[in-house]
Amino acid sequence: MGNCCSGNAADGPADSDAADDKGETNHQNSMRSDSNNKNNGEDNAGATATTPPASAPPPTVTSPPSKSSKPGAMGPVLERPMEDVRATYTIGKELGRGQFGVTHLCTDKVTGEQFACKTIAKRKLVSKEDIEDVRREVQILHHLSGQPNIVELKGAYEDKQSVHLVMELCAGGELFDRIIAKGHYTERAAASLLRTIVQIVHTFHSMGVIHRDLKPENFLLLSKDENAPLKATDFGLSVFFKEGEMFKDIVGSAYYIAPEVLKRKYGPEVDIWSVGVMLYILLCGVPPFWAESEHGIFNAILRGHVDFTSDPWPSISPSAKDLVSNMLNSDPKERFTAAQVLDHPWIKEDGEAPDKPLDNAVLNRLKQFRAMNQFKKVALRVIAGCLSEEEIMGLKEMFKGMDTDNSGTITIEELKQGLAKQGTKLSEQEVKQLMEAADADGNGTIDYDEFITATMQMNRMNREEHLYTAFQYFDKDNSGFITTEELEQALREFNMHDGRDIKEILVEVDGDNDGLINYDEFVAMMRKGNTDAATRKRRDSNYT
Ligand code: ADP
Ligand code: MG
Repeated sequence: MGNCCSGNAADGPADSDAADDKGETNHQNSMRSDSNNKNNGEDNAGATATTPPASAPPPTVTSPPSKSSKPGAMGPVLERPMEDVRATYTIGKELGRGQFGVTHLCTDKVTGEQFACKTIAKRKLVSKEDIEDVRREVQILHHLSGQPNIVELKGAYEDKQSVHLVMELCAGGELFDRIIAKGHYTERAAASLLRTIVQIVHTFHSMGVIHRDLKPENFLLLSKDENAPLKATDFGLSVFFKEGEMFKDIVGSAYYIAPEVLKRKYGPEVDIWSVGVMLYILLCGVPPFWAESEHGIFNAILRGHVDFTSDPWPSISPSAKDLVSNMLNSDPKERFTAAQVLDHPWIKEDGEAPDKPLDNAVLNRLKQFRAMNQFKKVALRVIAGCLSEEEIMGLKEMFKGMDTDNSGTITIEELKQGLAKQGTKLSEQEVKQLMEAADADGNGTIDYDEFITATMQMNRMNREEHLYTAFQYFDKDNSGFITTEELEQALREFNMHDGRDIKEILVEVDGDNDGLINYDEFVAMMRKGNTDAATRKRRDSNYT
């Protein structure tokens, strides 16, 4: 039980939903705005697009009949009987988190087969549109089922708190991981990746689906195997479309958003734009439309000027530049379609893409790009306070990736810029928390050890979630009390004693010495201990 987000107790604070609470501000890249206006405009008659095209299967889902403790109770989101996902699967460690969902490893209790379970907390679904988005994500995954390069939906479950999507597990990391793992990189390799990506886009476009949130993080590798297939994931912002239909809601991730999305009148061409942005990054290591703020990024996108003069572009083949220009054409009518991209001489197998290694700087920048990306994810979990000790130690590796001059430190400015470059949207409060945690001595630079220590401390604030799991585990008869002996055992087993003497804790928690401890007493005790630790840290950083 190293990770508090992997609690598998239903309904309690140890539930993954609750762990997710702490990080629930808008911290992801993806955004959605104006969803309430979806149906208002005349040019947007079909923009809810919840009705699948004729070829789409009915919006039912694939999981087995209900084993719920409340048989027959209808789930308001999926509109089918509620069912406990934990009856079929054991929920394991966290794999990642996004705007709505937290994804955990999960294991079929009978077959032992592993999957990924994306859990969407229902209380985050505030508007009717949010609910429709989830319903549609399930429909679309179902509709695209059987496509080899699209993540497969195994089942969808709804319980009182959450919707759970059980999917094929993509254990091989993100798109860029493969390039970086290889350690060398050519235009030809980039062309091969692009070919797979555009084939996937071609597939779902021809099946009447726009993804609307294409970016490197949403392409995952099935396994660590060198030839593992690439899978498109996260259809959470996707919609069904019909020929000529126009959409107007602004969704997507800042760097990858097409200009016509910002102008609120668009169709499937937006996906090609996003892939064009990915191709630009694949070839030079930085995004084509860059600014410190989201506003600045949008202006750059609307200006539409693509820089082919800075390094390494002069040494990149004219054919590659031609394709990038055609994908990043500001006019969606002129922009290449997926079929046209696949027909371009640069992308063809044994086509025009040269086999000579790209400038080393490109790979280094890609490495940095990926490190930032990973860092961002972990940062969010630092804020949420749900990392395992091993994961915290793993942070060191990420810092190394960011610290290009190997100085052992990175400046907060570098970190901020790096995060900004990633299009990371951490709230003011989150950035502040992160900085506080990262720069414990307040000197404006973050050294790894400093950060690791602070992170461990922050992480402990959330220990009460471990505690709840432990509490439930020992309170077998659900009496609401555990005995001091049981508590002692729990503290040891879950390693929650914070280095303090267990006996000392026991005296503190069982003030009246009756040998019985209720949950409130327990949590109060932990809060007290942890607040002290947190205050101490802050005081140190202010006055030393
Ligand atoms: P959101 O809609 O909240 O953005 P995503 O579907 O993007 O959620 O999932 C969030 C994160 O969970 C991803 O960035 C990824 O790290 C991880 N993840 C999602 N699906 C899978 C999967 N099938 N296998 C492994 N990890 C996954
Ligand atoms: Mg996502």
